Amino acid sequence: MVEGHPVVVQRVVVAAWVEIATARLGGALRLSTALRSLLTDGRGVVVGVVADGPEGPLSISADAVVLATGGFGASRELLQRYVTPYADSLWARNSGFVTGDGLTAATAVGAAPSDGGFASFYGHCLPARPARFTREELLHLTQQYGPIGVALNVRGERYTDEGETRMEETMCVDTSRQPDARAFYVVDHRTYQDYLDPMGPFVSQGVDKIALASEAGGVVLVADDLGDLTDQMASLGVPAERARRTLETYNNAAAVGKAHCLDVPKSHFATPLSSSPYYAVMVQAGVTATYGGLKVNPNAQVIARTGYPIPGLYAAGIDVGNVNNRRYAGAWSLGLVFGRIAGQQAARRALASKRS
Ligand SMILES: Cc1cc2nc3c(=O)[nH]c(=O)nc-3n(C[C@H](O)[C@H](O)[C@H](O)COP(=O)(O)OP(=O)(O)OC[C@H]3O[C@@H](n4cnc5c(N)ncnc54)[C@H](O)[C@@H]3O)c2cc1C
Repeated sequence: MVEGHPVVVQRVVVAAWVEIATARLGGALRLSTALRSLLTDGRGVVVGVVADGPEGPLSISADAVVLATGGFGASRELLQRYVTPYADSLWARNSGFVTGDGLTAATAVGAAPSDGGFASFYGHCLPARPARFTREELLHLTQQYGPIGVALNVRGERYTDEGETRMEETMCVDTSRQPDARAFYVVDHRTYQDYLDPMGPFVSQGVDKIALASEAGGVVLVADDLGDLTDQMASLGVPAERARRTLETYNNAAAVGKAHCLDVPKSHFATPLSSSPYYAVMVQAGVTATYGGLKVNPNAQVIARTGYPIPGLYAAGIDVGNVNNRRYAGAWSLGLVFGRIAGQQAARRALASKRS
């Protein structure tokens, strides 16, 4: 019920808005109709869209267009171009429909990409394949205890500051750039038990993520000592000796409070792996929402590569780029803030056009 509550609220709110926009104000809601491109007049003013509807392609004229297609978190091609060569291995931790259509359509009429954010995204690691799960199970299977563990790539090396953020999202971005977008999250028994305390400071605490990973068919290794754990990793292609040395180096530094001085530092939550049994969960990065997008001004107007706003074109939500960059400040907020502004601006423009 707690998990479902926000979804119920969202549906009720959206249904109310649709009712107001259509029945009361005379608007039209077109379902199963995908934006393909933007229509412009001879002066570069956006005057509508071309879309693919159930009956085929159609053109829709408009005084203003607001792009809110949710970024490109489900586009293998764009993720490969901007984020990681291992885009094919990423999990889509999103609806699967967010394929960068707003960005593509806008840049085709001269819009500027945001100044930053493209190399990063908001996401979390999930159990690596062969694990299988449904979209509804994504949230529970998210391996958010990562920051209190140690991450090794398949070369047996640490590659990320696990403690950079409490939310695990920066670990996930770094994991997306490791071979096959995979890694092992290693924890000891004490850390595992700590995470099962629902009152702790980490996201989703109290949920036994490791057991859920195992139930989903993921790879979960358990051993009484770190040597045995890394030997088990060898069967998955990890050089066992290097992995063991990496964990030893980490443990030695953490034991004297110097993990932040390692070549790959661990800046927070750096405790040695010291209580058996030890666990290693093979994870694979998952993309929820992208950070790169369109460049907008405070009026949510999309900016052209010339530096001027494109008349008639606005963006909201994840289509707005560079609000988040590497660290995550929120995703819904981009819809709430820019959606409100873009809606007001677009309505003002449409009213002005009717009056003139
Ligand atoms: C499990 C999970 C947990 C999350 N938790 C949080 C959280 O706690 N806090 C938070 O801030 N965010 C959270 N998020 C992220 C947040 O839900 C999304 O980033 C947010 O919904 C993005 O809003 P949006 O309106 O920009 O895009 P979306 O909500 O993705 O909406 C975009 C819409 O555009 C449609 N679309 C795409 N292409 C086209 C096209 N060509 N034509 C027409 N329509 C198109 C899509 O089908 C979709 O309906 C979470 C996401 C997930 C998956």
